[in-house]
Amino acid sequence: MSTKIGFIGLGIMGRPMAQNLMRAGHKLWVHGRRPTTMESLVMEGAQGCGSAAEVAAHADVIFVMVSDTPDVEQVIFGAGGVIERARAGQVVVDMSTISPVETRRFAHDLAAKGVEMLDAPVSGGEVGAVNATLSIMVGGKEESFQRVKPLFDCLGKNIVHVGAHGAGQVAKACNQIVVGVTIEAVSEALSFARRNNVDPAKVREALMGGFAGSKILEVHGKRMLDHDFKPGFKVKLHQKDLRIVMETAHTLGMFLPGAALVAQQLNALIGLGDAELDSAAIVKNVEKLCGLDTPRS
Ligand code: NAP
Repeated sequence: MSTKIGFIGLGIMGRPMAQNLMRAGHKLWVHGRRPTTMESLVMEGAQGCGSAAEVAAHADVIFVMVSDTPDVEQVIFGAGGVIERARAGQVVVDMSTISPVETRRFAHDLAAKGVEMLDAPVSGGEVGAVNATLSIMVGGKEESFQRVKPLFDCLGKNIVHVGAHGAGQVAKACNQIVVGVTIEAVSEALSFARRNNVDPAKVREALMGGFAGSKILEVHGKRMLDHDFKPGFKVKLHQKDLRIVMETAHTLGMFLPGAALVAQQLNALIGLGDAELDSAAIVKNVEKLCGLDTPRS
């Protein structure tokens, strides 16, 4: 059955996701802060909207895929935001990666208008968004999850209802700890090979089949070998995710030294002007501190 869907935020991830929902036969109302981001979707039949409020006036299920916590707050509760035209019975599905604590507040404030919220951050990158193979980690009420599940099926493969509001964002923070620390580990391993005059490409190949094998070794390891840091997942977004992890750990009084190291690496990349690169660029810091030449990308 066709659902009236809203989609707000049409960047690297949002645009292909909106496209997959439309190609599954759903009617879409889309909003991008820069009107040019809507063009290709409008050509395929989506209705372009001048504001998030205009999206909410038409859609029953409203997806949000913007950058950070204040951005989600702005498109839902700010001027011209979803809340201005929201009505009881709608569901807001926030697929951005943001703070679990603020997510619970947003869900509470939407509920005051009779609007349900799901936090549904994703893993799998641009490739997963394009191929509809994302992992989707969902927080919120079971009945809302069941209602939106057929739409999640158009976007991803591994779709897990993790728990109550905020639980999806907690799962995503866990994901980013594993991804970040593994990028650091692969950076160190490939640099270790180079300093020992052993071909890092052969080392990667050798490691791929054993316990050290991983998606990160495969995908990010290749980017590191090629020094190809076209995003992908931008350093500035990975820094934001590790900030969410460290702020939450700070509040709870937790010891996360691996995540803290990765957060520092990402801070350094931002300071060095590499905010827009893929976060596999962590290898550039490691190479420099290991006395290896890094070709500038
Ligand atoms: P992106 O390419 O930078 O796109 C973000 C989009 O959000 C942009 O189109 C931006 O509009 C829009 N936006 C940001 N703030 C806004 C605001 N205040 N009001 C209206 N629109 C706003 O980022 P992305 O890679 O698609 O990532 C989106 C989210 O998915 C992030 O939370 C990220 O952490 C998460 N994520 C990304 C990946 C990945 O591999 N890229 C993987 C998993 C999860 P403009 O075009 O005007 O800037």
